[in-house]
Amino acid sequence: MQAGSRPNSTAGPAGSAPGPGGPGAGSGGAGIGPSSPAAGATSTATGATVPVTDPAAGPADAATGATGIATGPEDPIVIVGGGFGGLYTALALAERPPHPPLLLIEPRERFLFLPLLYELLSGELRQWEVAPRYDQLLAGRGIAWLQDRVERIEAPARRLHTRGGHTLRYRRLVIASGGSSTSFGVPGADRHCLGFRSLTDVGRLQALVADLARRRRPLQRLAVVGAGPTGVELACKLADLCAGSAIIELIEQGPRPLPQARAFNREQAELALQRRDVRLRCHTTVVEVEADRLRLRHRPAPDPAGRAAASASPSAGNPSACSPPAGDLAGSDELLTVQGVIWTAGLCFRPPALQPEPSRDRLGRLRCEASLRLQGEDAIFVAGDLAALEAEEGVPLPSSAQVAFQQAPLLAENLRRSLRGEPLQDFHWQDLGEMLSLGRQEASLSSSGLTLAGRAAFRLRQLAYLTRMPGLPHTVRVATGWLADWGR
Ligand SMILES: Cc1cc2nc3c(=O)[nH]c(=O)nc-3n(C[C@H](O)[C@H](O)[C@H](O)COP(=O)(O)OP(=O)(O)OC[C@H]3O[C@@H](n4cnc5c(N)ncnc54)[C@H](O)[C@@H]3O)c2cc1C
Repeated sequence: MQAGSRPNSTAGPAGSAPGPGGPGAGSGGAGIGPSSPAAGATSTATGATVPVTDPAAGPADAATGATGIATGPEDPIVIVGGGFGGLYTALALAERPPHPPLLLIEPRERFLFLPLLYELLSGELRQWEVAPRYDQLLAGRGIAWLQDRVERIEAPARRLHTRGGHTLRYRRLVIASGGSSTSFGVPGADRHCLGFRSLTDVGRLQALVADLARRRRPLQRLAVVGAGPTGVELACKLADLCAGSAIIELIEQGPRPLPQARAFNREQAELALQRRDVRLRCHTTVVEVEADRLRLRHRPAPDPAGRAAASASPSAGNPSACSPPAGDLAGSDELLTVQGVIWTAGLCFRPPALQPEPSRDRLGRLRCEASLRLQGEDAIFVAGDLAALEAEEGVPLPSSAQVAFQQAPLLAENLRRSLRGEPLQDFHWQDLGEMLSLGRQEASLSSSGLTLAGRAAFRLRQLAYLTRMPGLPHTVRVATGWLADWGR
């Protein structure tokens, strides 16, 4: 899994503005399982039982605390968000019975293994492998699932409110609601750009690719904004999918792609982009997006170091290489006709409203102690991208599945310790290396002195992710499917 923060490059002006809502996120209020819940203790779609109020009874009276919810030791550990941080923490807690009731609140129907989204787009992997359903993942594990969205948390009352009208008390709370994309307020971006974070995004992009292949007009173009890992990996996959039907433009406002990647992976990525004729434009900012065109601003290289860095790369001299715009282009605007734009730059955080207001870092993430406990709160913990935690050397941890995956068992242990009143343990991140998907059947990886690229790296990457799949039954199902595919 990547070490670097994911959408870590930006192609828009500095500053922030509300980006598109979490794409693909459900509307919440979908209820808890097939039948309407009764007030008090109720079952969810996964068969586990937790105390939940009846949404039909309306939201609880915040002033009197009249919630009709069980209180005390039977209140559940509630986990908000079923991504890498939340789901894997719930699974780690469930591994060691007896445990207090566990409730996962997540609006989507399916967990999404985001690092494999490119392979879902290309059809190299199937939806059930990359996006298993929560009811199947959690069945028989003693974890209840409420398909809803948490909107508000009252820390002093240990109580939360959902969009669907549920009010719940918790004994311990884990907030793992992750981040969402932001287009930095670039005019037209929210309206016209596709994202790449959800199943809906994948479906839209597949439809666009199929449309371009059908029309086969000359000079069809797709633009990918941001040459961080997501932008680079997506550009490679799209170039393979659109070969012969569209040109892929990769737009980056910085001097080079993958600024935080390891040297080997960056070199492999630059070569992969060149082989696919992806047009990499660095020092280029998207200033406006319209339905069928982009306004780009080419900027001169900010300093000689930037130029040196770009020209030292293996792509120097290649027409598709990322180099500062030459001569008359520098400092000018260009209109680029496009059939579609996919925005991958920028990550912002909009967790549920928390009272009292927590301390946040400049990205809006919640500041935590090394134990992952929210600063100033006894009963609230934070996991995954949303947790602002200083690494030992003072460098913030990357926003990555690798970090969230490592946090989960430690957080589960700290939740148990916190319930027993024991001292908590500190989280120490171990950088296990970095892997990139670089087109169909191609990848690059760099880990503890080992570097590998090409088809072997693609397989090794798949195997590494197999060991990270949520839960043994799903892992076995996926492994069986892959073995059958590879045997053909
Ligand atoms: C395309 C792509 C590829 C990636 N590839 C890699 C990779 O190769 N390696 C790597 O290490 N990292 C990768 N990442 C980053 C990685 O996926 C994230 O760092 C990781 O998912 C963070 O986990 P999380 O649990 O914090 O958030 P998420 O996985 O985003 O999960 C958050 C969950 O919370 C839910 N939620 C949000 N708000 C609420 C609410 N109010 N109430 C209830 N639920 C809510 C959401 O529906 C979501 O399911 C990639 C990211 C993307 C987008």
